[in-house]
Amino acid sequence: MLIQNVELHGQIEQTTSDYMAGVDVRIHNGKLVEIGFGLAPGDDPVVAGHGGALLPGLVDHHIHLFSLAAFAESVVCGPPQVNNLNDLRQVLHGVTGSGWIRGVGYHESVAGELTARDLDALVPERPFRLQHRSGKMWMLNSRAVQMLDIESQVGWQGIETDNHGVTGRLFRLDGWLSAQLKRSTPLNLARVSAELAAAGVTGLTDASVTNDHNTVDLFCRLLTEGQLRQHIRLMGNESLTDQHFANTLLTLGELKILLDEDNLPPLDELIDRIKRAHAASRGVAFHCVSRIELLFALAAIDAAGSCGSDRIEHGAVIPAEVLSTLRNLDLTVVTQPSLVALRGDQYVEDLLPHELPDLYRVRSLVNQRVALSSDAPYGSADPWLTMRCAVHRTTPSGIVVGEAECLTPEQAFSRSTTPLDDPGGPAVDLNLGSIADLCLMKLPWKDIRERLNVDDVAATFVEGERVYQS
Ligand SMILES: [Zn+2]
Repeated sequence: MLIQNVELHGQIEQTTSDYMAGVDVRIHNGKLVEIGFGLAPGDDPVVAGHGGALLPGLVDHHIHLFSLAAFAESVVCGPPQVNNLNDLRQVLHGVTGSGWIRGVGYHESVAGELTARDLDALVPERPFRLQHRSGKMWMLNSRAVQMLDIESQVGWQGIETDNHGVTGRLFRLDGWLSAQLKRSTPLNLARVSAELAAAGVTGLTDASVTNDHNTVDLFCRLLTEGQLRQHIRLMGNESLTDQHFANTLLTLGELKILLDEDNLPPLDELIDRIKRAHAASRGVAFHCVSRIELLFALAAIDAAGSCGSDRIEHGAVIPAEVLSTLRNLDLTVVTQPSLVALRGDQYVEDLLPHELPDLYRVRSLVNQRVALSSDAPYGSADPWLTMRCAVHRTTPSGIVVGEAECLTPEQAFSRSTTPLDDPGGPAVDLNLGSIADLCLMKLPWKDIRERLNVDDVAATFVEGERVYQS
């Protein structure tokens, strides 16, 4: 294949990065094999670049494919669409069909803390489960409690009870929950993959702790069938080992460790867990959304010794005094600036002014190890929105949260194009011999940087194969 007349950049880190305009790029066997002016097509199929930028494909370093596919079949029950009890009533009243109702995105600002009884008043007949927007809790109505036979599981960690019995609130029981809710139709992962391809995404890390050998088998099959189109790195727990990986687009990711500040594990057990992962040449990835969770993770990694590929997911709160520890431990922060923009008004309301500069830091980390990601469906899956948010950090009401953490468009792009297996490393550079994971844009970079808009993606290629064309 010959892609004609593109603007080819080296690493886009600075506004003044070098580039060649009007150049042709030949791709063979999934790699860039020739770069030059006026190359003869020969037998190669030709793609017209129209002077647009040819960029490295975007990499989403933290996403949840199953939840993202399920999101499409869910009722949004939180801000900004749903802001109070009345909104919530209305949106649930409008649901048609029969069987389970799956609500997502709930936050206490809508109608406070909800139990089964509150949900019964909203949805009395059908089984209803509602996910908190943090992703760590599900709330069930009585019909759902009954259908899942929650009463007989009382005593399990994660099933909340009070004086009256089961409250309907389940913490971190996603794996168990999805095993109980046997789906009649499989989730449409192909559509999710196609939407990501349309945004220029050529690689992603599925960060779900519930990934296991069944996920590996499914992803291998979907990759082979062409239903999934990206390079995929799969995090998961200890049950996930690399012996099953039968497709080269699929690789084993880090050991995902969830921390909940109100239910932290014994430190010595955690240290052993990290050591075992490292002994198996596997990095660890800690879910850290609070200061306490971060400090606990750092203490554990420090004691176990870091392996150079350990990660902090989210890093929602990073006190300034911890930045040097992150650097000394060689840790990569995989963060989500879209959340600070989308949820920022709530943060401003909930936090003290001196805490705001610690929220979703990015700029402070640019000279150490940091990557952007979506955490979709909890954040938007659009990587261009993520980049825009990293640049402006402006909430829906117009407040800039943590102005010192704003990136330039070049920095935002660079931190969205780091290698799948080295999220904190240097951005991918397109050169002779590079893998042809590419994002062809409709415009030159000088125009793209002003908009950072998904509509400017013209075509996406994974290992030289076109997976999207606008
Ligand atoms: Zn996540």
